[in-house]
Amino acid sequence: MRSLGPLSRIFLLLVVLVLAGTALVVFTAPETPKILSVLDETNGPVLIKNVRVFDGENPALITHAGVLIEDGTIVDLFQSPASLSKAFPDQTTLTVIEGNDGVLMPALIDFHTHFGMSSGRPPWDSSIFNLYPVQYEYDAYLYAGITSVVVGSPIVEPFFGSIEGGPRIYTASKIITAKDSHPVPMLKSLVPWPLRNMAIKNTVLEIGDEQSDPGRVQALLENDTHHTKIIIDGVIPPGIPKLLADDVAQIITASHARNKPVYVHAADPIDAYQAAKAGADVLMHAPYQGKFDEEMLDFLSASRTPVVTTTQIWEWIDRGISKQPPFTPLERTLMAPGTYASLSADWTKGLDSLGKGVFSPTFARTIAPQFHDNLRSNIQAMIAHDVVMIAGTDYGVPGLTPGASLVRELQNLSALGIPNLKVLQMATSIPGKLLEPDGPALGVVRQSALAELILLGENPVENLGALDRVSVIFSQGRIIKRAVALRRDTDE
Ligand SMILES: [Zn+2]
Repeated sequence: MRSLGPLSRIFLLLVVLVLAGTALVVFTAPETPKILSVLDETNGPVLIKNVRVFDGENPALITHAGVLIEDGTIVDLFQSPASLSKAFPDQTTLTVIEGNDGVLMPALIDFHTHFGMSSGRPPWDSSIFNLYPVQYEYDAYLYAGITSVVVGSPIVEPFFGSIEGGPRIYTASKIITAKDSHPVPMLKSLVPWPLRNMAIKNTVLEIGDEQSDPGRVQALLENDTHHTKIIIDGVIPPGIPKLLADDVAQIITASHARNKPVYVHAADPIDAYQAAKAGADVLMHAPYQGKFDEEMLDFLSASRTPVVTTTQIWEWIDRGISKQPPFTPLERTLMAPGTYASLSADWTKGLDSLGKGVFSPTFARTIAPQFHDNLRSNIQAMIAHDVVMIAGTDYGVPGLTPGASLVRELQNLSALGIPNLKVLQMATSIPGKLLEPDGPALGVVRQSALAELILLGENPVENLGALDRVSVIFSQGRIIKRAVALRRDTDE
């Protein structure tokens, strides 16, 4: 038998190091509390009674209602106590949840997430040892009342251990991007070794490095994912290459031929506009590299192309420097203690130490605030032009907190002038219809819809703050409660 050549030996050594590193991560991941308790997962009939129902679409609540669910589906919606008593003269055979006149509504949907690669900390203070475990990220999402998520890249799952429960996931293909384009430089600069190489290999398909490019179409055939994900972004950091409009159009056509929608991350409004014209099904961000002009806005409005809001993707930098606005109680509750300390610390030294990475001091102090301004102004322009928008966070970005960031996203949208009813629709019925166009409905409360529901004490249409206090979560046939209380402002 031949002995191993030097290259093979280096390769073996690398494999051993990666495995050892991964084992280390598994055993040193931050201690995260158990934040949920499962009341029931039998899938048997459950009657939720004495509730007011916000159906995800209409402003008026259905009062004195009752909802019967079974096997994860809404079997019946009773609009009066009399109709409920008539249907169930004897309720002893059912699991009954007493609603106490609280508000039952569709569980929330976060349309842009990445799991398994974030600690929530700023780039200079993140290491492989403090990433949130995926199980905790999932639990935090449910805790916040979010039971469906769209992922923007394949999930980096842990090697060891299995994950229980979690939200319903709409999976992404590998990110199709130009060679050496976003997110490759960002992953190299943010994700610690050895996870970095794994993250890039498992989540990104770079094209355009060969004359003919069979990989382009093949990527779409590769796996059975919910949607194809494309990134057109030459500004993280500025000056990197990006996909050409012709390539984007070809990928969209090829994906549609396989009945797979295409979700596009475009930084520049022109790229977003061209992708929408080429048939992109969703724009995964409000663009931030510049501002939409009238022609673009009119087209987006007429084509009804949905745009995901992601108001916090650049805001975390300014928020970290100025410490304003302060953390919400939900962020404090779900944020790891080390992350809180890191985000609360003085950032001066950290920012200065960033050097030539993606988030250089100049990027953090000058470019990111400009991007944030552009993004906000594009959202305001889209509001004025009645463009379809969907709530989403891009959780996985530094400074964002699993679950809590979507609830904060809704508060941001309200502060931008969107009425509460519309804000709630943007996280329930509007994305629900897009994700489940044919089968049982998602994001609404009606007969035969999916029983993805949350129970609140107050009416969120009147006060979005009601979303902070979710008392029961119904998802995929499970009934779940919070096992730890929401932090109060006065808690340390
Ligand atoms: Zn993303």
